[in-house]
Amino acid sequence: MISIQSKLPHTDTTIFTVMSKLAEEHHAINLSQGFPDYDCDPKLLNFVTDAMQKGFNQYAPMPGLLHLRELIAEKVSDLYDAIYHPDTEITITAGGTQAIFTALSACINPGDEVIIFEPAYDCYAPAIRLLGGLVKSYEMAPPTYAIDWEMVRKLFSANTKMIILNSPQNPTGCILSNADIKALIKLTKETDVLILSDEVYEHILFDEHQHQSIARYPELQERSFVVASFGKLLHATGWKLGYCLAPQQMMKEFRKVHQFNVFSVNTPMQMGIANYLKDKETYLGLSAFFQQKRDFFRTLLMETKLNLLPCNGSYFQCVSYAHLNQEKDIDMATKLVKEFGVASIPVSAFYTRNVDHQVLRFCFAKKQETLERAVERLMNL
Ligand code: GLN
Repeated sequence: MISIQSKLPHTDTTIFTVMSKLAEEHHAINLSQGFPDYDCDPKLLNFVTDAMQKGFNQYAPMPGLLHLRELIAEKVSDLYDAIYHPDTEITITAGGTQAIFTALSACINPGDEVIIFEPAYDCYAPAIRLLGGLVKSYEMAPPTYAIDWEMVRKLFSANTKMIILNSPQNPTGCILSNADIKALIKLTKETDVLILSDEVYEHILFDEHQHQSIARYPELQERSFVVASFGKLLHATGWKLGYCLAPQQMMKEFRKVHQFNVFSVNTPMQMGIANYLKDKETYLGLSAFFQQKRDFFRTLLMETKLNLLPCNGSYFQCVSYAHLNQEKDIDMATKLVKEFGVASIPVSAFYTRNVDHQVLRFCFAKKQETLERAVERLMNL
């Protein structure tokens, strides 16, 4: 047997795969991996199948279909008052993950340091390491997961190349405030530090909160890759389509990698999405849609012994069980699957150090009856 020396010796199979598999094996209700258990809009499916039937089945242009890029430019201009040129500053990707990996690949050299905020979405740290970069983690803690920007400043060094932000945040459901943005502007001013802003939940914010897109702030926008995912926008995580925005010079480097990684992405889906997005309500209505689910789920969970943490955005609700027992979160999550029939994600999986606050993450992008059945089971805790 030929073996290769691992480039990621300390990386295991992603927790999403682990927990979804465990849920399946034990026929548990799967609130772990983030995906809807209801179908997307039939109108969207019709647009896509129509594109296939009309013969749009060959390669799309390398940066994506121009018409879709134009619609994205319009959306970003309407929502964030930001100008991105469809020709040179917008690229359609095979999901948010590929956009993140491509942006990192275009920028990170061995020895470069990248600041991330943990608990962090799990694709950041391995990608940084694969490129020879060093992960500098700012560890946030429940219940508020607030950021002390003076402490972030202490993580800066001459080798700091990039900061990765994620708002609304997965897994915590926290969002960046205007004060956070001001602190970030102050921190990055007069540096050439880049920003990768993962905004895949940009349309899922609650209680009238406004999404603080990096694109809104010229001082940040000029140094940022902004990443979005159609998976979240269209309730179609399996389609793996998204996009990246960046100023021309940065996008030029991004595309050098993109063209030799995927070249271009799924043509009929880009056609279908472009037709669908002409109706802006498709994404402008998402916050209200998910707020109803969040409120419903939280009201039910209040009857259990679990403690609810705040949730201002995304489709994830975190709960603490620290007052109930001292079990490790991975053990607690496993027990919930095996003995109670509900799958969640242990939040320690999103820290690079061994940090366990006894917090679990549930996905509420589910049918009402799924959430009801899950909480019925959690009542037995
Ligand atoms: N983003 C989804 C989540 O947080 C899952 C993505 C994945 O499975 N890679 O659950």
